[in-house]
Amino acid sequence: MRFRSSVAIDLGTVNTLVWVAGRGIVLEEPTAIAIDTAVGKVAAVGAAADALADKEPQDIEVIHPLRDGVIADLDATAAMLHDFLRRSRRFGVLRPNALVCVPSGATPVERRSIVAALGVRRPRYNVRLIDEPVAAAAGAGFDLTGGAGGFVVDIGGGTTEVAAVAGWRVVRARSLRKAGNAMDDAIAQAIRTEMGLIISQRAARQLKMTLGVTGGAEGWAEAVGIDAGQRTPRTDYVPGGLVATALEPIVATIAAAVHEMLSEIPAGLAEDVVRGKIRLAGGGSLLPGLAGRIETAAGIGAVLVEDPLRCVVRGAAEILERRGDLGKHGGPGLRQLASAQAGPFVSGYSRGWREMTAGSRPASSQPTTAATTGMPTRMNSRFCVGTADSSDRPSSGLSQA
Ligand code: ADP
Ligand code: MG
Repeated sequence: MRFRSSVAIDLGTVNTLVWVAGRGIVLEEPTAIAIDTAVGKVAAVGAAADALADKEPQDIEVIHPLRDGVIADLDATAAMLHDFLRRSRRFGVLRPNALVCVPSGATPVERRSIVAALGVRRPRYNVRLIDEPVAAAAGAGFDLTGGAGGFVVDIGGGTTEVAAVAGWRVVRARSLRKAGNAMDDAIAQAIRTEMGLIISQRAARQLKMTLGVTGGAEGWAEAVGIDAGQRTPRTDYVPGGLVATALEPIVATIAAAVHEMLSEIPAGLAEDVVRGKIRLAGGGSLLPGLAGRIETAAGIGAVLVEDPLRCVVRGAAEILERRGDLGKHGGPGLRQLASAQAGPFVSGYSRGWREMTAGSRPASSQPTTAATTGMPTRMNSRFCVGTADSSDRPSSGLSQA
């Protein structure tokens, strides 16, 4: 892998981050794309698209193309990534390298869809996938060289990944489909039922951040929504107890999963885990009161990593950099698990790197579509993106297929 032409991508359900070798983190945007359905063009990508969510402007469809950590809409993901990478890249390499983090529980089809998302448009990428817990552990400050181990909990938007890792490999991992988005939904549902107030996901998210399971500093927070009976806007005070009660089942599930995973680790890892503590990463780990709950359930220390929202991409970048420093066989997760020649979807890997070639196609001469890859996608070729020559405006250079 030519280090200078590498990018690391944390393609999260809620946020996507891009790191470029020699430049650092160059992009952090919501995983969202807005389509102008009247003309079939991309109207906005990232933060600008997410800002339109819940507001239902005419002829605009806001798509959050990942669900539970995996691609649910291949076309939209490809268009979004293309735009993000066009903004991030400054090198003129024909086939740049991308290291993309994937949830440990992602199926082969889900892994393949990531490769396809970076391969359906030019420039095509040499894609390598890395298990997210390994990247999270690196970003959380664990040095996993020499077989050292650690325990990380990455609470994102769609999934919570609970994992024990050692020697740059996953030892045990579990992916729960309960994380930040489920918390937002639970809060919105409780406020509608208990207070007759319909609030947006954005408002629910704000209440979650302010109140958490502790009730926040004030013990209440203001929310604006639509009165369920009158159908008119209403402002109300939401008690912290209501939000804490709504969050309780999700927090309890996460804490129980951590406890369960700890009971499954090999005895040889126990000392590393106790010494290194449970490290909490991902935006969801910032929930007020969550770290304390996990610590209580686990019976060992739990600490929030520095800058939890960037932990995974920082870790992936560190792994790329180590690879750059140490050469082909010297760094973490460097086992070449499959070569492009061996075909992109060789099965039976253990953990760590998986090399796939974005341009490779599962069926020899077929274009990469949902039909040929069996990938989960709602629509195919609804819109396409121009080349890197297009201007920098997100909506330009985009036209209907
Ligand atoms: P993903 O990797 O799935 O995209 P992230 O790690 O970027 O997820 O985290 C996004 C999630 O973290 C969202 O659900 C967001 O609401 C939540 N989040 C961000 N900040 C906070 C906070 N201060 N308190 C609680 N949740 C938060
Ligand atoms: Mg994440």
